[in-house]
Amino acid sequence: MNAATLEILRCPYCGGRLDIVTSLFVQRDGDEIQHGILGCECCIFAIVDGIPVIHLEGRSTTARAHIEAGRPDLARRAMFNLDDDAQAARFDEVASSDAATYRDVVDALGPTFEGGYFLYRFSDPTFIVADAVVRSVAGTVLKNGGRAIDLCGGSGHLTRSLMDLSSTAPVLADLYFSKIWLARRFTAPGCEGVCCDGNGPFPFARRAFRYAMCTDAFMYIWTKRLFVGEMTRLVDDGGDDGAIVIGHTHNERTWSPSHGQPLTPEGYRGLFETIEPRIFGEAGLFADIVKGGALDLGRRDPSAAIDADPALTIIASRNPDVFTPHRLEDSAGLRGEYRLNPLYSVEQMGDRVTLRLRFPNDEYADEYGLCRQYLPDEVVVSSAAIAALGEGRLAAELEDLARRRVVLDLPRRYY
Ligand SMILES: [Zn+2]
Repeated sequence: MNAATLEILRCPYCGGRLDIVTSLFVQRDGDEIQHGILGCECCIFAIVDGIPVIHLEGRSTTARAHIEAGRPDLARRAMFNLDDDAQAARFDEVASSDAATYRDVVDALGPTFEGGYFLYRFSDPTFIVADAVVRSVAGTVLKNGGRAIDLCGGSGHLTRSLMDLSSTAPVLADLYFSKIWLARRFTAPGCEGVCCDGNGPFPFARRAFRYAMCTDAFMYIWTKRLFVGEMTRLVDDGGDDGAIVIGHTHNERTWSPSHGQPLTPEGYRGLFETIEPRIFGEAGLFADIVKGGALDLGRRDPSAAIDADPALTIIASRNPDVFTPHRLEDSAGLRGEYRLNPLYSVEQMGDRVTLRLRFPNDEYADEYGLCRQYLPDEVVVSSAAIAALGEGRLAAELEDLARRRVVLDLPRRYY
């Protein structure tokens, strides 16, 4: 973590400032703190691999003891829950290799770790809606500066969407250390990670951010009222600068897979005590994106449409520019590297290449089948255009396929 991030960190229990305990073990590299101990008036917390662990759940106190003893290697093993020595050794080997990919690390963590579909995350329908909403809302409220936070952001797939919008490095907060670690290494390099508990007070100063979001996770939060109160505390200055986004939360009125503990639309609305939120059905936003052109956040979905939609997006802001149509960007420039969408099989025939859409299994087709609205079943392109992707060039004949997510701009060394 960067030493300047200490300015916005607060103890979740006493609310006090956190500082490096210089009498205990610490490893720094310029402004970056790799390992060390943070202290307030009530508690001490570890920094492991540049990630402050500001809670007392799980193995965090074991990791903290390892840092105090000057053993960051063991602290990291504890935070990754690597109790088996052979598996831990294998993980250490993969993690220390510069050539390792996100997929290699996930594989080294074992089959129970990331369950399934991370490989396809950047083209799934939930992601493309959330990405467009994030780019539109954060792009509006962060235009004149300010910082963003991605709460329960997992391994940083959407934190990546904030990298060029937040004036200081965006913060990725999550309970799972391993996911934050993957985000900082692969998905959103340069973000600041904070390991903390979303069911407790957030370990940040009031108004430390101008944009706060939580996507695809809010229905699993038990303390929803506290969570929204905390999001508001982080961004709201009483003026019209900030915005809160709760993306892809499930709807108590309409069943969906991985339902969680969702609320009704009125229930969600009632969580916001100081800023009037606007609730959108995800189907309407998705249709905008498939059509291309603009994402219309000026719409007011009728309550029947909201009630019937399995997934909702909630936006709270006093900034009127948020609730307008936002042009969908064709391309924000290459951020990682061009890759063919792994949902496609590739068949080479002379100087032509046939790409065919193949779902990994029926469950994927059931849950994410809506992607057929933008992913074509089959397409033929030139081998030269495919070869150019490897050199970081997007040939004109692939521009529309990039818009349709057949060609993806993936993080480097993703798989
Ligand atoms: Zn404290």
